[in-house]
Amino acid sequence: MELTLSAEHANFRDEVRAFLDAKLTPDMRAEAARSAGVFSDGPLVRRWHKVLFEQGWIAPSWPVEYGGCGWSIVQRYIWDSELAAANAPTIPAMGLQMCGPVLMRFGTPAQKAHYLPRILSGEHYWCQGYSEPGAGSDLAALQTKAVRDGDSYVINGSKIWTTHAHFANRIFVLARTRAEGKPQAGISFFLVDMATKGLSVAPIVSISGDHEVNQVFFEDVRIPADALVGAENDGWTVAKYLLEFERGGAFASRLEGALAQVRRIAREEMSDGRALIADPDFARRWAQLALEISGVAALERRIISTLSTGGNPGPSASSMLKLKGTETMQKVTELALEAVAHYAAPDTTEARRGLTNSAPNPTYAIPTAARYLNARASTIYGGSSEVQRNILAKMALGL
Ligand SMILES: Cc1cc2nc3c(=O)[nH]c(=O)nc-3n(C[C@H](O)[C@H](O)[C@H](O)COP(=O)(O)OP(=O)(O)OC[C@H]3O[C@@H](n4cnc5c(N)ncnc54)[C@H](O)[C@@H]3O)c2cc1C
Repeated sequence: MELTLSAEHANFRDEVRAFLDAKLTPDMRAEAARSAGVFSDGPLVRRWHKVLFEQGWIAPSWPVEYGGCGWSIVQRYIWDSELAAANAPTIPAMGLQMCGPVLMRFGTPAQKAHYLPRILSGEHYWCQGYSEPGAGSDLAALQTKAVRDGDSYVINGSKIWTTHAHFANRIFVLARTRAEGKPQAGISFFLVDMATKGLSVAPIVSISGDHEVNQVFFEDVRIPADALVGAENDGWTVAKYLLEFERGGAFASRLEGALAQVRRIAREEMSDGRALIADPDFARRWAQLALEISGVAALERRIISTLSTGGNPGPSASSMLKLKGTETMQKVTELALEAVAHYAAPDTTEARRGLTNSAPNPTYAIPTAARYLNARASTIYGGSSEVQRNILAKMALGL
């Protein structure tokens, strides 16, 4: 398997690089480089979103008829890889990669006409209301209720781990609309304005000091009946379709970028009177990770190559990629943490937010500990590693 770029794709890559050189400003790159979150912070997201929207490149995977780029799978891969390599801000997936495709598939003409342009322009900033305090991997156990009342539904309950709910102005919500029968068969999918009376957001600050996730409370939140997507009690179909878009992405470029950063750190840091990178044990572990990353890259390119020729990479491919991509990233962040050693100890929350220039450690060490801590979450969200292994056991091994 080989993903050799044709002349046309090489031209496309050069066009992308020229665009990033021109429009991805040094301050945006610096802010993205300091960040340790899954996605960049809301204000940076909004700035970068506007740049991409004005270029017409905000929705690479959307069809042209809905305002997308209509790019091929290879072009999208090149795009994702170049963004990761350039350290561009990461735009949350909830609007463009989750809600958008769901509306294209299940939305009414009126829903499509209203919401899709606003996702594209960035006017609507979405978050995902799936998980609850008692429902995560077992999502069908969710208890938030939506009760039909005339032309409205009234929602009561709570969602948790809601990424960027404090930046978002819209949330898509799974709620129970029928108590009886199979749990999956009594769930509906709703689009909710975060400014609706009775909806409130409480921050959850993670161990790294970052505020990325929240708990969202619904107390008699009254929404119009046309906020329902798909049929009532058929939200499970919609929810599962959306989850197909949650995994995947360009893991390899991000991993390569993170490992290159470890090498930069290890050239600066000293061990036994020489640069850490010259320490044989450290160098061996660095090389081991480089090999693992080339395995991830091979897997990723095999999937892209299969998809681009109209093939089906199989049901377990995305689980394999999610598993290897996230677990390898955890190892890279561990090695980075070891490389910065005692510089990992000071609290860098203010420096990472750009609130102070006087960080107690070198610039390259500022996000290291936070990235290490935040990377622990990557094997939980988007389907935990255990759940991915279950899928592989069933789909790939037939167990
Ligand atoms: C940083 C972060 C951001 C998130 N963002 C969002 C968001 O924006 N919106 C949203 O709706 N949710 C979000 N989530 C929630 C995420 O989807 C859930 O945390 C995830 O589904 C796991 O659910 P849980 O936390 O309830 O853990 P549980 O499901 O209770 O799992 C606990 C442990 O049991 C294991 N386990 C569970 N079931 C099985 C099984 N069948 N077999 C083997 N092992 C199993 C799990 O792997 C895990 O180790 C986010 C989570 C994190 C950490």
